Amino acid sequence: MNRGGIPIARIAGIKISADWSVLVIGALFAWGVAAGAVPVYAAGTPVWIAWGVGVIAALLLIASLAAHEMGHALLARHRGLSVDGIKLWLFGGVAQISGDWMTGRTEMLVAAIGPAVSFLVVGIFVAISWVMISVGAPAIVAIVPEWLAGVNLLLLLFNLIPAFPLDGGRILRGFLWTRTKNRMTATVAASRAGRFFAVVLIGVGVLDLFFVDPVGGLWLVLIGWFLDSAARGEAHGEQARHALEGMLVGDVMSKNPVIVPSWITVELLVDQYVMGHQFTSFPTHSIDGRIDGLVTMRGIKQVPAQQRSNRRAIDIAIPIDRVPIARPDEHMTDLLKRLGPASDGRAMVYDGGTLVGLISPSDIARLFQTGPGKTAARVAA
Ligand SMILES: [Zn+2]
Repeated sequence: MNRGGIPIARIAGIKISADWSVLVIGALFAWGVAAGAVPVYAAGTPVWIAWGVGVIAALLLIASLAAHEMGHALLARHRGLSVDGIKLWLFGGVAQISGDWMTGRTEMLVAAIGPAVSFLVVGIFVAISWVMISVGAPAIVAIVPEWLAGVNLLLLLFNLIPAFPLDGGRILRGFLWTRTKNRMTATVAASRAGRFFAVVLIGVGVLDLFFVDPVGGLWLVLIGWFLDSAARGEAHGEQARHALEGMLVGDVMSKNPVIVPSWITVELLVDQYVMGHQFTSFPTHSIDGRIDGLVTMRGIKQVPAQQRSNRRAIDIAIPIDRVPIARPDEHMTDLLKRLGPASDGRAMVYDGGTLVGLISPSDIARLFQTGPGKTAARVAA
């Protein structure tokens, strides 16, 4: 699946793609060099050369970020996790690793390799910079490796802050998990540590905002807020994962979905199918019988009442290629990673070639309401 990324390269079987937002950070980096470093260290450089150097430095920095992610991806694959690829975007890069960490040691090592690669990258740029200075290279050339070493070092240090989803947070959780042999308590502890650091960052940011540098301060506050919500999200996700552990898609799904013709009007759909069924989503089929979409209550509610007679089910359906497909014997924890806003948190369950069920957010919510006793019994079954 492409997920909207633009493919750039494939290295060692790992696909690297970029989101358009990477252009934003690329431009910021280039600007930082062209308007920040060049005028200070190589004053008098023509603007077009400054920008040329800025663009080269930005490209090399994005390549360094990709190398960091490549470290995560290759080690994850080596330790038996499946890797969907590397995506570069606004906040740098992400190695899209699916499947479970399995052990704390795996999580710790996979998290640690990224900063290790960055450390190596810093070392390489320091060496290049040293060589350039000793051969007396012009300042406009020598600032590139120096700037790259500096920015990579800053990013490396930031990444080691023990807060999710930064590498430091994963190293901490993997470490605690290995020590306590309990993933749940390790996550709770790591999440608390993450929130502590987030609060510290926000505090420093607020002081910075009022007394030193408003822009830098605001940036720190934003990062702190982002880390705090990530830490809370990680703890919640872990609770959900814990509750769903051992459960199969077939246990959770709503069985025997009502499949509706895709060409009927929304009005007919509401009168004939929505009323009288407890379902919150309806797969649609085309004239030749193929399933071609999924209509949700949310989609139906968005159609104003006066337009319900001239819009068809297929017009408001989520296209079939955006809906994740699952098997009844698949683990819920595996499916969870594929559920997302593109399908309104829903999935279709196929047994062989037959649609046998649907998973919706309410199916998952129901599990949490049945109480721990029932969940435990189902896990054991
Ligand atoms: Zn990393």
